[in-house]
Parts: sequence; C-alpha cells; structure tokens
Amino acid sequence: MAQVNVRRDVSDPFYRYKMERLQTKIEGKGNGIKTVVVNLSSVAQSLARPGAYLIKYFGFELGAQTNIDPADDRWIINGAHDSAKLQDYLDGFINKFVLCKKCKNPETDVQIKDGRILLDCKACGQRTDVDLRLKLSGFILKNVPKKGKKDKAERKAARKAKQNGNAGKENGNSGDEQSSNGSGKENGSKEADAASDDDAVIRKTKAEQQFANDGDDNEDVEWAVDMSAEAVKARQQSLPGEFKQKLAINGDEDDEEGEGGGNTVYDQLGEWITEQAEEKGSIDKVDDISIYVKAKELGIESKHRTVLVLVQTLFNENIVAQIPKRQAMLSQIVTSERHEKALLGGTERLIGSLGKDHPEMFDKVVKVLQLYYLHDLISEDVVTKWGTRASKKYVDLATSKKVRKAAEPFLTFLAEADSEDEDDE
Ligand SMILES: [Zn+2]
Repeated sequence: MAQVNVRRDVSDPFYRYKMERLQTKIEGKGNGIKTVVVNLSSVAQSLARPGAYLIKYFGFELGAQTNIDPADDRWIINGAHDSAKLQDYLDGFINKFVLCKKCKNPETDVQIKDGRILLDCKACGQRTDVDLRLKLSGFILKNVPKKGKKDKAERKAARKAKQNGNAGKENGNSGDEQSSNGSGKENGSKEADAASDDDAVIRKTKAEQQFANDGDDNEDVEWAVDMSAEAVKARQQSLPGEFKQKLAINGDEDDEEGEGGGNTVYDQLGEWITEQAEEKGSIDKVDDISIYVKAKELGIESKHRTVLVLVQTLFNENIVAQIPKRQAMLSQIVTSERHEKALLGGTERLIGSLGKDHPEMFDKVVKVLQLYYLHDLISEDVVTKWGTRASKKYVDLATSKKVRKAAEPFLTFLAEADSEDEDDE
C-alpha cells in the first residue's frame, strides 16, 4: 500500500515516520452519497490517535456529518470528497494534534489534564499545548473515551499495543488518565488502562510475549523502516549492472503452485539469499532492501509465493527475534489473504522441518503468530480460518496438525478477545 511521510513537507526519503496514503471510496448517489475512508484505522494507528479524532476533524473541516464509532470499521463522511483533499486536511490534523510544537516529531501522546490537551513528546520530552479554540479540541475534551466505549478497531489497536508491552501508545488513545481517577499521574503510560476488560487475557499473553521482546529494539517496532520507492530505487541504482536486469516471469499466479523443477525465479531468490547469508556470515546480516530489490529484479516482489521463500530462508531457530527485524519488508510484500496464507504455510514448513531435530520449535508457534499479528502480517480472520483445518498443502498432515495444536493458545486468545468485544457492544 502506498505510504507517505507523516510530515509531507519533509522530502527526505529516509524520514522514518510513515503512514498509508488515505484511501477513499464514494458510495451511493444523490442525497445518500457518501465517502468511505477505507484505511482510516490504519492511518489513525500510524499516528497513534483514535479514529474518531480523524473522522471528526474531517467532519469539522468539511462541515459534513461523520460516524465516529463504526462497528464495522467503515468510516464514513457524508457527501462526496476527494481523497487528495482529505490528505491535505490530514496535514492540518497532524500539525495541530500530532506533531510536537517544539521539535515537530510525530511520536507524541495525548494527555488530558485540567481541561488542557497536551502533546507529550517522546523525542524531546516537551509537553506542548493543543489550541483549545479548535473545534476538535472541544470534541476531544467532551469525549474522553470511557471504559468499554472504544470501537472495535481501537480495542484491537489497544490489544496490540499491550501485547507489544508498549502501553504508552494506548494512553494517548484512551485518555484514561483523566477518566479513571484524575490523579494526574506523571507517567501513566505503564499502568494505563489496568482495569480494561481484556486485561486478564492480555496479561497472560503479555507474559508469554515478554521473551519475544527481549533483546529487540522496541523503539523501532512502531515505525516502519523506509521501504519507499525512492529508497528502493536509490539502492537499485547503486547495484552493479548485472543485477539491474529484470528477468521476465511468465504465467499468472495460478500457475505458480507447482514446486517447479528447481530453477524457478523463486528458487533463484532463495539461492541468492542463501549465498548472501554465507558470504556475510549470517542470514541476519542480509539487509531488507537488497532482498526486496532482488525480488523486484526477479519480478516477484508482489507474489505470494515470494513470501513462502522469504519465510524459509530468512527465519531459522531464532525466528522470534527475527520477525520484528523483517516485519517492515514483509509487510510491504504481504498484501492479501493469499499472501497471509503463504506466510502461515511457509512458517508451518519451517517449523515442521526445524522441529524434526528441535522439538522445542513447536513451543515457539504461539510467539511467532503473536508477532505476525502484532505487526499486521496476519489478520484475525485468516489465522482463525487457518487454525480450524489442517492441510497437506505445505507439510504432511501430521505436522500440520501438530503446528495447529501448538497454535491453540493464540487462537483461543483471539476467539476470547473477540467475544469480549461483542459483549461490550
Ligand atoms: Zn518534541
């Protein structure tokens, strides 16, 4: 999905704060015409703000009706509005409600205190005031989310934030600091939302998660590595000529299912990665952009089977530590349900083959799935469906069953979290 810099006035291709470009769809006609902001949740999550703030801001700017709590994640603005215009308004929102007034960094938390709205900056440590005369400021002050009132997407984001052991973002979303006790905790982020409904489940997984986060550079988890077209192009141009040639690939996706005779472009990608790993002494030293560029040269950077190759070559016994480091590149490639299935299939195959000598690999399945989920590489629907039925597609049936058995705690977690969401509604 096309990404833009959170600050569009910054043209530096290595600027690290990215969000998806707004995507809209016009529906209906006549008086019933409306604009659905398809990826509002994702953009809101990139900005660590509730979706309601964004949609309401658009509503104020356009003088249009909006829905601020859609159960189905369909964020609607009445009337027909151009996505480029909304993107311009979004710049205004970011300037006023996201960027630190002091240093212009977007990594801020919203804190509501004594009738003021403060942006607490992670970068420079300053807390700066949001202009209370803005219409959205009034909305924010009047709508400090109460427990159980968060919409589904937000709860999901909150679950993820907590799974990530990074409750700080959650604080910005919920404003619970004020609604819970108003005691003005200086740093409420760590214990924010302790009373939230899904906490029991979260605590359990969080404990399991702890290990996964050990040694990771958590700072980088929230924000995507620069995989922009410019960065990729710059890297491509720095490669020697022989690498620049683009190999043709024939057939459509449906013809790719066979494993081939050992000389497909997929095998070439796999072999190239393996060679690079040998040359550099470790698979973890082969960098994302060069892998992506290689896949691009082979013409397969958007193919689901590429995911299958990557999982099996980039990951090994250390998969739990490796996923966070590869997630930015993988999310560039994993763009559909089919890709997600390939990711799960490749993982099954990897765990199955490593598990032959290292049975403890099966104990890592839960952590692996949590990390995929956390980084939006798999969706609830796809992994739930995957979990219900063993398949011979990637491994033998016994192994397939064994992997799903090992995945059960995670699948149960999703099912429970989901039914709690429904109870709330
Ligand atoms: Zn700052």
